[in-house]
Amino acid sequence: MLITVLGFYGGYPHNGIGTSGYLLRDDNFNVLIDCGSGVLNVLSNYLDPTDLDAVVLSHYHHDHTADLGVLQYNWLAADKDQPLPIYGHTQDFVNFAQLTEGDATKGIAYNDYEPTNIGPFKFEFLRTIHPVPAYAMRITKGDETIVYTADTTYFDGLVDFAKGADLLITDTNFPEEVTGRKWHMNTKESGTLAKDAGVKRMMISHLPQNYKKQTLLEQSQKYAGDIPVIRAFQGLEVQV
Ligand SMILES: [Zn+2]
Ligand SMILES: [Zn+2]
Repeated sequence: MLITVLGFYGGYPHNGIGTSGYLLRDDNFNVLIDCGSGVLNVLSNYLDPTDLDAVVLSHYHHDHTADLGVLQYNWLAADKDQPLPIYGHTQDFVNFAQLTEGDATKGIAYNDYEPTNIGPFKFEFLRTIHPVPAYAMRITKGDETIVYTADTTYFDGLVDFAKGADLLITDTNFPEEVTGRKWHMNTKESGTLAKDAGVKRMMISHLPQNYKKQTLLEQSQKYAGDIPVIRAFQGLEVQV
């Protein structure tokens, strides 16, 4: 599996860099995971967006869906034979209904009690703790696994869900000094999660705009111990 970071900021885009979006490719199958602000533009550097095979959305916050409407217009204009499948949860029917746009795109429900096969990938979902329903994803192909926490407060269930992953992508929106009630993890929680879950590698993502990224990386690494930590940047490609 090859995963490419298209955007990594939390909340809003900044200085030409967008919010959450990851392109997952293998066996000639292209999946876009989250479709944040600025993602469609960057995606088109890699492939024609109408060559996507599926989109999977973790939740319906704008920083994960802002470019969905224009992606749907792109598909409407292309007038393809088959609609683009867009996978989303149904805990919010208004937003789920908007995944279907005429014959261009089609909303497909996922849930957290059975896996969903999308092309060559098996997706498993875990409801996270966030102000709106959101789902972490465990993506498996053959022996390889990628886990994406999506947006979440730290909770113990993440450790089991991420167990042994080859790559863990975490919502690391805060430095370690930000504690207390919050809807994302800080560097300490991300690093500790990587260590407790025994993952092979961790990527910190969903980063804040106004904090030194090198410091976020160093803080996360301190808590992750021996587990190599990398930080997301636009265009970063990781082969798993
Ligand atoms: Zn977010
Ligand atoms: Zn969110």
